[in-house]
Amino acid sequence: MKEKKKSDVAVLLDYAGSRKKLTFLGLTFSAVSMLLSMVPYICIWLAARDLIAAAPDWTRAESVTGYGWIAFAFAFAGIALYFAGLMCTHLAAFRTASNIRKQGVAHVMKAPLGYFDANASGLIRGRLDAAAADTETLLAHNLADIVGTIVLFLAMVILMFLFDWRMGLSCLLAAVISVLSMAAMMGGKNANFMAQYQAALDRMNKAGTEYVRGIPVVKIFQQTVYSFKAFQASIDEYSYFAGHYNSHVCSKPQSVNLTFTEGAFIFLVPAALFLAPDALSEGNFSGFITDFVFYGVFSAIISTALARIMFASSGIMLAGAALGRINKVMEAPTLESPADPRMPRDNRIEFKDVSFTYDGSETPALSHVSFTARPGQTIALVGPSGGGKTTAASLIPRFWDVSSGSVEIGSVDVKQIDPHMLMEQVAFVFQNTRLFKASILDNVRAARPEASREQVMEALIAAQCQDILDKLPKGLDTVIGTEGTYLSGGEQQRIALARAILKNAPIVILDEATAFADPENEVLIQKAFSALTKGRTVIMIAHRLSTVVEADQIIVLDKGRIAEQGTHEELTAAGGLYARMWADYNRAVQWKISSEKEAE
Ligand code: ADP
Repeated sequence: MKEKKKSDVAVLLDYAGSRKKLTFLGLTFSAVSMLLSMVPYICIWLAARDLIAAAPDWTRAESVTGYGWIAFAFAFAGIALYFAGLMCTHLAAFRTASNIRKQGVAHVMKAPLGYFDANASGLIRGRLDAAAADTETLLAHNLADIVGTIVLFLAMVILMFLFDWRMGLSCLLAAVISVLSMAAMMGGKNANFMAQYQAALDRMNKAGTEYVRGIPVVKIFQQTVYSFKAFQASIDEYSYFAGHYNSHVCSKPQSVNLTFTEGAFIFLVPAALFLAPDALSEGNFSGFITDFVFYGVFSAIISTALARIMFASSGIMLAGAALGRINKVMEAPTLESPADPRMPRDNRIEFKDVSFTYDGSETPALSHVSFTARPGQTIALVGPSGGGKTTAASLIPRFWDVSSGSVEIGSVDVKQIDPHMLMEQVAFVFQNTRLFKASILDNVRAARPEASREQVMEALIAAQCQDILDKLPKGLDTVIGTEGTYLSGGEQQRIALARAILKNAPIVILDEATAFADPENEVLIQKAFSALTKGRTVIMIAHRLSTVVEADQIIVLDKGRIAEQGTHEELTAAGGLYARMWADYNRAVQWKISSEKEAE
């Protein structure tokens, strides 16, 4: 466990790049400053010795002023060096944090688009940003404190034995008992318990987040907190571990630890009583008293030093956890860019024996799917929910890469096409297409930044957005989401379609699902669809069968496999899954029409 923590720090230091050396310099400064800060104590000892020797004729102790100045100079130098050290560690820590952010963002930029579905970009940013900030306390402060304090501690031990080893030993005995009781608290089978305790804390935090996310559901269904059993169970589990940790693991060792750190002189007094008669008979009683005072003061520093090491060590644990979160971001899959990119020959799309399984899923979302869309054709993907339609469509712009088989555009595997080129070839409008909090102009222009205002306007008109522009206060320049300008789902979809139209890509991937609830939008969206798809190769995820009748080819996907494929006529005649879906659809339409008539 100790080794793992060590490597965490090493990994973090690597992020500092060229400033890694500054960390070491800072740590050295900190260690030296601790040594310097001990000199004043020695001066006190020397001054006390001279004063006692001179007593009662104090004026004879002439060197005391000199010791005072030396003490002052060393204390000052110690503080100055400590600040210089902190400056170095801060410079390195800031570079580490900024490199973590830069490298994390650079890595995530190479992740396939699908990754962002499961990991909202805000979450990634939060994870990376917060974790980078968490490493700062360790690298800028804690490490310097740990190294400095360890050096201080060792120097103190040496000094103690230098003056009078017997009193030194008695002071050290208390420190050893403290350390042993701390080790008992954290090591052995309790180390395992500590891991369980941490895991329980993590589970509770996760369940808490889930609970907060689920609040809308709780409100709608009038559930109480107890309905979130997982959350309740995780709290119970945590409280068991926290209680057990306090009462069974910590209480005794911590009492011993505190007793001996706070009362570090506990063995000093008996040792002094034992040594006093000898000192008296040797006639060196004043020296003996000086030593005793010195050890009394010094033993108090031991407890401060130990507490400091313990406190700073928690920084290592925190940074270890932060590193875990950073690694999660860094482990995000990346899209391999082709070393030798090839140009697609035309706009034909071909699925060749494609299978795909999502990470962490056991059943494939697509198995052995093959079909071809010739240039200019419209292919409709239909089938029950969960059949694999969205997955199939997402493989074309490489939201994900196939598990086996290949997806080709113009006879070139999409993996062999330069990613920028691929994005230029394909326009897609998926259900969750988002608009930025920017002007309508900028939102549409995102597809083609060099487009003129007029071209944006043309695309918006082709996407039937005239009515949206008319009602907005600043027309094309209205910023979405401000000044009360909120667009309905259907309206947002039309703006997204304008964006795709402006892109003017030869391949269009479309999910026709929209808030079709309002009929006005439906008509407009249908018109926008035709403007977008004219003369292009289209893959359309169709939910309403009326829109697929015209398709050149219908692929029926069920449980990730192609159940049927053909034209509308062929499939209705075949009497399979599509024919049944078509019959159901017609029944539903009939029912709707007749109920509307009755209502009249
Ligand atoms: P459809 O679009 O036909 O409704 P999908 O392609 O969305 O179907 O889903 C196909 C299968 O893949 C389903 O079983 C679904 O649960 C699963 N799936 C979809 N998206 C993900 C994802 N991001 N991670 C894991 N499984 C997924």
